[in-house]
Amino acid sequence: MAGLTYDYSGKVVLVTGAGSGIGRASAIAFAQEGAWVAVSDKSEEGGIETVRLIVQNGGEAVFFPCDVSNPVAVKTLAEHVEKRMGPISHAFNNAGIEGEQAFVTDATEENWNKVIDVNLRSIWLCMKYEIPSMIKGGGGAIVNCSSIAGLVGFKAIPAYVASKHGVIGLTKNAALEYASQNIRVNAVCPGVIQTPMVDRFTKGDPVALEELKRSTPMGRVGSPEEIAAAVVWLCSDQASFVTGHALVADGGWMAQ
Ligand code: NAP
Repeated sequence: MAGLTYDYSGKVVLVTGAGSGIGRASAIAFAQEGAWVAVSDKSEEGGIETVRLIVQNGGEAVFFPCDVSNPVAVKTLAEHVEKRMGPISHAFNNAGIEGEQAFVTDATEENWNKVIDVNLRSIWLCMKYEIPSMIKGGGGAIVNCSSIAGLVGFKAIPAYVASKHGVIGLTKNAALEYASQNIRVNAVCPGVIQTPMVDRFTKGDPVALEELKRSTPMGRVGSPEEIAAAVVWLCSDQASFVTGHALVADGGWMAQ
């Protein structure tokens, strides 16, 4: 395998939403650094394809289906990963959805509940079951997926913005609670990244995509691999004194 900038050999890394976009790129990046990767997603097709991509490059990965909005499924996921590979050492809680686009007054309760369940409650549930496993193994590191929408507002996605702000608060809380048990908890805040989520958000309209690029000081969208690089670093021993942090990787968006 190429890579091996970090030493993840013998480490058990769980990535949710790993069947597409940022999650897939991160699962591949962890495997390139020597980790055994638990590739989880609600999409069986996407998850199995990620495992195929890892294995064909000489890495080690197994697919674990899980809808992170289902509390029983999240508990079972952590149990199954630990049973198969031993305590979870690192986790990237990445699965998320954008939800419907509507202003506050037009937004539906159904969309609110769904987005909060998938993007925020799931982060608590994942940590609830990952952390005891990490403690058994002597410690670990977690990265939760927030967004620049976790730091500022974006019109017409109120539940998404609220969920991503919540992820940062929850990350800080868990970081404080488990710092003394050798568990670091951080968040990553991507800017606009070229994934199927952005294709859905722009409805495939090239003009809308150009507008997003123009709004980014670097004049382009980011790649999933650029977020994966930040996540692998945050989880690594090179970031050993970093906890409770929300790391922005956004081509300069938040500097404006
Ligand atoms: P993506 O390409 O749509 O990938 C998300 C993956 O998560 C998909 O495989 C999806 O499966 C899966 N998923 C959705 N709901 C799930 C659930 N309930 N349980 C388990 N898996 C689920 O999106 P992405 O852009 O890589 O997004 C990944 C994370 O980055 C999200 O948390 C997103 O909010 C965040 N983010 C993205 C951007 C961006 O510009 N792309 C910017 C900031 C933050 P299906 O395909 O079957 O739905």
